[in-house]
Amino acid sequence: MTAPTAILEVPFFDYPALFRKREDQFVEVFREVSRRGAFIKQKDLRDFESSLASFLGARYVLGVGNATDGLEVALRAASIGPGDEVIFSSHTMIATAAAIHYAGATPVPVECGSDHLIDPTAVEAAVTRNTRAIMPTQLNGRTADMGALQTIAAKHSLVIVEDAAQALGSRFRGQSAGTFGVASAISFYPAKVLGCFGDGGAVVSSHSAVFEQACALCNFGYNLQGELVGWGFNSRLDNLQAAFLSLQLQDFVAAIERRRHLAGLYSECLANVAEVVRPPAPDSDPDHFDIYQNYEIEADQRDQLKQYLANAGISTLIQWGGLAVHQLERLGFTQHLPYTDWLFTRLLMLPLNMSIADEGVQYVCDKIRGFYGR
Ligand SMILES: *Cc1c(COP(=O)(O)O)cnc(C)c1O
Repeated sequence: MTAPTAILEVPFFDYPALFRKREDQFVEVFREVSRRGAFIKQKDLRDFESSLASFLGARYVLGVGNATDGLEVALRAASIGPGDEVIFSSHTMIATAAAIHYAGATPVPVECGSDHLIDPTAVEAAVTRNTRAIMPTQLNGRTADMGALQTIAAKHSLVIVEDAAQALGSRFRGQSAGTFGVASAISFYPAKVLGCFGDGGAVVSSHSAVFEQACALCNFGYNLQGELVGWGFNSRLDNLQAAFLSLQLQDFVAAIERRRHLAGLYSECLANVAEVVRPPAPDSDPDHFDIYQNYEIEADQRDQLKQYLANAGISTLIQWGGLAVHQLERLGFTQHLPYTDWLFTRLLMLPLNMSIADEGVQYVCDKIRGFYGR
């Protein structure tokens, strides 16, 4: 009889563990802010917005209700609307396309490249006389080739609005995701690299007119001087959430280093598994500083591997429920994107988060090697 192999439970994400890690500090922030009765548009929010702006090297940050609102507001503030086409990668959350739709423009999905981010060649091929913007998703914590996208944008007089929901702290040639275009949005959804206790997001811009327009849109149409300048929404980041975020921003650089360490570990441990395509390793390309919001591999026999890992106590996730945006025919998409179709039969996200131990990553890799008989 063989001894039963120990099963380690590796959850995909562990919210309670994240809370426990600094429970006392969170409770203290809650108490301190609540005692002041400081809930909407107070100092904690302003402080967080300015710390984040300096972290990013951007002029302005506006806390908003969530990144989906932020993307729509960014587009509207950049005067993108009815009759305009906006090109984005089909490998993204439906939120990217929904923001374009609700801004009144037409979402045009295109192929991604081998690093799973928008393919500049596909972008250029999709430009028509109605194209007004490119909306790259800085997917999985990696920033797209912004040099190539900026060249295309300049050539065709397009603006860039980044979906940087997954990319806080990621850089391309030293410049932060979220600062390349006219405006961008970042998400503080609890599972994002910087997460709050519910929904939250930010609009980032270095253009004063666009920023002022975004502020008015998110504040019922009132501009910073308190004058009503048009129709607006109500989309704000709660002051309390901003205070929780400021606390975590203090050691965010260390958090990123931890994520990069874990990604490096995966990269090493899976190096000899020919059936798995790994994301670029942390130091593999001097142009890219990746923060590994997700660790998304490509795997032969993906569905069988997922089940095998589940049997070993390991939770994995297939992003976007396994469907690229152009595959959502119900929403009227008709594009044929064969590379993305193929890729979506192979994608799988392995657990990479702030609660997983190095041993957890090694265990996952052992099981993957076991599955392929290596
Ligand atoms: C999470 C996410 C969003 C949406 O962010 P919310 O804050 O939940 O609205 C948009 N785009 C991408 C790529 C995301 O990962």
